[in-house]
Amino acid sequence: MTHAERLAALEVVATEVRSCTRCRLHETRTLAVPGEGSPDTEVVFVGEGPGFNEDKQGRPFVGRAGDLLTKFLATLRWKRDEVFITNIVKCRPPDNRDPEPDEIAACAPYLKRQLEILDPALIVTLGRHSLGRFMPGERISQAHGTVRPVDPGSGASSAMAFALYHPAAALRTPEIERTSYADVARIPTALVESRSRRESAVPPVSAAVGAVAAVAVMDSSATVAAVPPPPQQPNPSPIDPAPDSEPDFTLF
Ligand code: URA
Ligand code: SF4
Repeated sequence: MTHAERLAALEVVATEVRSCTRCRLHETRTLAVPGEGSPDTEVVFVGEGPGFNEDKQGRPFVGRAGDLLTKFLATLRWKRDEVFITNIVKCRPPDNRDPEPDEIAACAPYLKRQLEILDPALIVTLGRHSLGRFMPGERISQAHGTVRPVDPGSGASSAMAFALYHPAAALRTPEIERTSYADVARIPTALVESRSRRESAVPPVSAAVGAVAAVAVMDSSATVAAVPPPPQQPNPSPIDPAPDSEPDFTLF
């Protein structure tokens, strides 16, 4: 997909979310919060659900937890508009209670479509509910700061998930805040690892169908799988550079 196609497709999802009545959370919301960010990013942050401020503004992570998330990004020299930020449920659970399993299930197709459009290399989970979607069965106390391959059934066809504590937990507990800064510092390495995994993967047949050189792509797949890719210079920008642009070594 081109930039313009991704932008338009994300807006289609956002428009549906804004008028969605698939679960009871629509009854108590002020504004639904579809998510926002770059259509060209390789990194998607997934929180739990909108809180008080997000519900009023219709934008994700704009309260105190959002300020901390923005600070986390700044330590990587990343800006909010270079990544995509969204949530497991798009409407605020009343009194900030946990989303219920049926609400999470009702909302899941929206996140799945966003991930299909963005095709990220890295999904950063924020808190337990997001962790449960992308690293099922893991405990946040064990999984934080680590990566796992993501089930393509999530909509992200070839991504890794990186777990963080929820920024709201970091606001409550200084120890979790310190740990979170250390975890965040590992995100660029996780991104580079996921990029190499994507580059060495055999292209899915569907990706080759309709491509000009479909036959050539499929013929070379055995070689691609057998020969490790040449060492790549890491590029920590969350937006994949044009192939001929200069790598950015800022963080390395
Ligand atoms: N907490 C979340 O999980 N998501 C938001 O958008 C804001 C706070
Ligand atoms: Fe629809 Fe999701 Fe909002 Fe429920 S939480 S009303 S499924 S957008």
